[in-house]
Amino acid sequence: MVKNFLAALAAVFALSACAARLSTHPAIAGDLGAPVSTTQMLEALRQPGSIAFEQVIAADWTWSEDFATPGVEPPDWQDEPLEGQVYFYKLRHPTRGLILIDTGLPADTPRYLGAVVRNVFDIDNTLTTRLSTADALGREAPGAVLLTHLHWDHVLGARDLPREIPLYVGPGDGAMRHFLLRFIAPATRRALEGRGPLREWRFSADPDARTAGVIDVFGDGSIFAIHAPGHTPGSTAYIVNALDGVHLVTGDAVHSAAGWRGERVETITFDPDRPRAWETLAQLQALAAAIPGVIVHPGHQVLGKAR
Ligand SMILES: [Zn+2]
Repeated sequence: MVKNFLAALAAVFALSACAARLSTHPAIAGDLGAPVSTTQMLEALRQPGSIAFEQVIAADWTWSEDFATPGVEPPDWQDEPLEGQVYFYKLRHPTRGLILIDTGLPADTPRYLGAVVRNVFDIDNTLTTRLSTADALGREAPGAVLLTHLHWDHVLGARDLPREIPLYVGPGDGAMRHFLLRFIAPATRRALEGRGPLREWRFSADPDARTAGVIDVFGDGSIFAIHAPGHTPGSTAYIVNALDGVHLVTGDAVHSAAGWRGERVETITFDPDRPRAWETLAQLQALAAAIPGVIVHPGHQVLGKAR
């Protein structure tokens, strides 16, 4: 018994010694936006929208996801294939010009992933690039990129963007540690290679306690960053008041349409904080319920109008 305990302890130490950060790229406090309350944001969203919103499908991607049946205790986790896609979003602001949410992917994505990721995800057979970021943007460079988080499938398209374009991300996203990150962190490092420091959103507590913090990105009620921790510590969702209605981009706070609808409970192996991830999802769903006609975009599937 003692021997088994010591062996288990040794294994835990060995794994924690191997824990790696998601990113060691330098980060500074972001220079955009100011905190507002969730209620102030919801009031601003009653005004007509001004942003042209476009979802770009960067790639088709099928991978194995952990799903459980809602309400079953203990949860009946099962691996199921998720028929997903990789997206980014082009936002055209009337005075700020082109702004991106996430980056899409470069045409030569597999070469940045490393052998372990390529094999574990069987990338060469499961990921099909549809439109590289370079092809999607042509010669146009965005003024800024608003990242949902630093996983490679959201940030690798930065390879196709001029290095001086600032990248905004939630606080502490790179500081996340997990032993599995040893294998995916190199792709994030290659995505950010040669760029200046990341700019971290300066969230503060929501006075209404309805979210983990909201920032009015340009101070004009057009785009809001919402702290959505759990999948990663800095995970950020975005709300865009667009010409065709209000859009909620969740990032990987939820991956799938079924996850958003509550038909499946989802997670992935290295979600560092599952209870927080589910709390965030509940907050985003309550937020969506308060925005008539909101169009919800889960991280890797299309949902369309939720209500
Ligand atoms: Zn992710």
